[in-house]
Amino acid sequence: MNPKGARDGKAGPPLLEREGCRPGCGACCIAPSISSPIPGMPRGKPAGVRCVQLDGNNLCRLFGDPRRPAVCERFAFDRELCGEDRRQALERIALLERGTCA
Ligand code: SF4
Ligand code: SF4
Repeated sequence: MNPKGARDGKAGPPLLEREGCRPGCGACCIAPSISSPIPGMPRGKPAGVRCVQLDGNNLCRLFGDPRRPAVCERFAFDRELCGEDRRQALERIALLERGTCA
C-alpha cells in the first residue's frame, strides 16, 4: 500500500504519483463523476459512487494499465482540493462536483 507497489505492476495510488497524494485515500475515485468508460463500469460512474477498480486498500487496480481512463491519468494531487485528509478531500471534491454540474 505505497506508491512503490505501482512500479511493481501491482495496484497503485489512484492518481499520478505527485508529491502530496496520499496512497490509500481514494477520494477522487469516489466523489467525482467520471463519464468515460471504466472496465466494469462501461458508462462511467456517477458522483459519490465508488469506482469498481478501487481495491480494498483504496488503490487503483488499473494503475499502469492502458484501460485506465485518461481522465484518471490527468488528475493530479491538488492541495486545495485534496485538503489535509480523506474526509476533506471527499467533501471538497463533492462540492466542486456540485458546482460544476449545477
Ligand atoms: S483525493 Fe487527492 S490525496 Fe486523495 S487519492 Fe486523490 S489525489 Fe490523492
Ligand atoms: S479507474 Fe482507477 S484511478 Fe480511475 S476512478 Fe477508478 S480506481 Fe480511480
